[in-house]
Amino acid sequence: MHINSIVKKRPFIVSGPCSAESLIQIKKIADQTHNYIDVFRAGIWKPRTSPDSFEGAGKEGLKWLNEVQAKFNIKVSTEVGTAKHVEDCLEAKIDILWIGARTTVNPFYVQEIAEALKGVDIPVFVKNPVHPEISLWIGAFERLYKSGLDNLTAVHRGFYSYGSSAYRNDPKWEIPIELKSKFNNLPIICDASHIAGKHNLILEISQIAMDLDMNGLMLEVHSDPKSALSDSEQQITPIEFKNILKNLIFRDGDLKSNKVKSKLAEIRKKIDKLDEKIVLTLKERESLVKEIANFKLEHGITIFQLERWFEILRNRKSQAVEINLDKKIISDIFEQIHKFSIATQTRIMK
Ligand code: PEP
Ligand code: MN
Repeated sequence: MHINSIVKKRPFIVSGPCSAESLIQIKKIADQTHNYIDVFRAGIWKPRTSPDSFEGAGKEGLKWLNEVQAKFNIKVSTEVGTAKHVEDCLEAKIDILWIGARTTVNPFYVQEIAEALKGVDIPVFVKNPVHPEISLWIGAFERLYKSGLDNLTAVHRGFYSYGSSAYRNDPKWEIPIELKSKFNNLPIICDASHIAGKHNLILEISQIAMDLDMNGLMLEVHSDPKSALSDSEQQITPIEFKNILKNLIFRDGDLKSNKVKSKLAEIRKKIDKLDEKIVLTLKERESLVKEIANFKLEHGITIFQLERWFEILRNRKSQAVEINLDKKIISDIFEQIHKFSIATQTRIMK
């Protein structure tokens, strides 16, 4: 089975519990969801932060997955973190493997997995690394491609951000978009559960993923989320899961009618004009920055004055608030502008 042929049918759905806890549990979940999904998921080896947390059922769980495979005639998937996991999964004829976020960060493990999979024709999902370093994600794909694996899918599960996001993991949507521009034919699915961290946020994240034209979703579904042995807050019941699928709106990425096309072109033209102005304004700002750098040089003043920077940030943010613009976006943009301003001044003053 090649995942590329399946993901044309949008959205491609991978779902099941965070962890396989018992045969009864995964059969119950599969029973209630198998008609709605492409691949059943369940973690067997769980990479947990604390050694006292539930670390998965281990090899025994592979037999449970085999039962789900046989009873519901469905593809099953699980996470692998070591070559031994790969060996056990291949022996058990698990259909699809995924590399978790805590493994993608480590090139040694990715390499070990890639080598264990050499010459094997099996789809592999690769989750983004825990922190927002796209080169590690790219590197993982390159290692797998080099091992002859070409049936790969990216799983976007958000990034650790030390409490600065409304979600458990900050989506940083620009990163999967950048990945897509690097590997044009690579399908990307969104693990809305691990981004959300809370069951009530999963629909909105899934909707954004669909609007960004992602190929599918990975969702954690549990028959009794409250009693789940891992990720209890973010798992949804089979009923909630079906409701989410029902409520998702699928907008068409294709430009159908000429009327739609020309309206889109008209708005884009206006955006292009504005962007041009922004670039010219930045150029003008750069000239002033150079002027001020020369002035500071002449008068022996330091480049960076903390008070002035705070004042810029404060004023730009309050202007944003006045006109109902997101102040976080404005402060991010000005941080970049300021960074370049300092770089320009440093060059002059050297
Ligand atoms: C999981 O899918 O249950 C999991 C552990 O995910 P991640 O690697 O994205 O944290
Ligand atoms: Mn989980």
